[in-house]
Amino acid sequence: MGEITKIAVAPPIQVGGSLFTPEQLATIGAILGMNAKIEMTSFKQLYLEVPLEQREVIVEQLERTGLEVYPAGFVTKSLIACNFCKGAEEAGLAVAQKLNQSIAGIETPMPLKIGYAGCALGTSEPLLKDISVVKMRNTYEVFVGGEPKGLKISIAQSLRSGLSEDQLIPVILSLINYYKANAKGKEKFRKFIDRMTIELLQQVVAV
Ligand code: SF4
Repeated sequence: MGEITKIAVAPPIQVGGSLFTPEQLATIGAILGMNAKIEMTSFKQLYLEVPLEQREVIVEQLERTGLEVYPAGFVTKSLIACNFCKGAEEAGLAVAQKLNQSIAGIETPMPLKIGYAGCALGTSEPLLKDISVVKMRNTYEVFVGGEPKGLKISIAQSLRSGLSEDQLIPVILSLINYYKANAKGKEKFRKFIDRMTIELLQQVVAV
């Protein structure tokens, strides 16, 4: 057998949450065959192992069914969004989709989980993500430094509030870029936040 590579697959950001269609699941099964291992990750992506030389063809087949395909490993994961139960407009679906397109798959020192909640009820647990966005009526608040793993979990702290739609993506991108440029080796995002301090990061992302 030739070289194997891993790809990450997710349904689009949509009202209803992480919904797969029967066609999408059937396509994944047909592509991978009976003996494949399909991993359900904690960040709402399926990890599939595919032959490297067939990667492009497989990605096309998956995308034709409406699935989105991302790199696996040390990258920003696709946006971990809520179910938009308050409706597409009120919960900011279009903004979340745009944010996902801007951030998913960027190479980073350690994998980054970025969350989105369409209201302050935050049922998608935004404060347990590395970076998260919570829609507050007509503006957005950004939190950083959530860490759900281990015995010393930490809750994300507010970095910026009152952001407009136009300010939101530049703030998140400058935060990711600053982490990429200044992390010490494979420094975890949570530790990076502690070392840099919230005050300094607020200046970095000032828009
Ligand atoms: S965060 Fe708000 S809009 Fe999103 S699913 Fe939860 S309650 Fe609904």
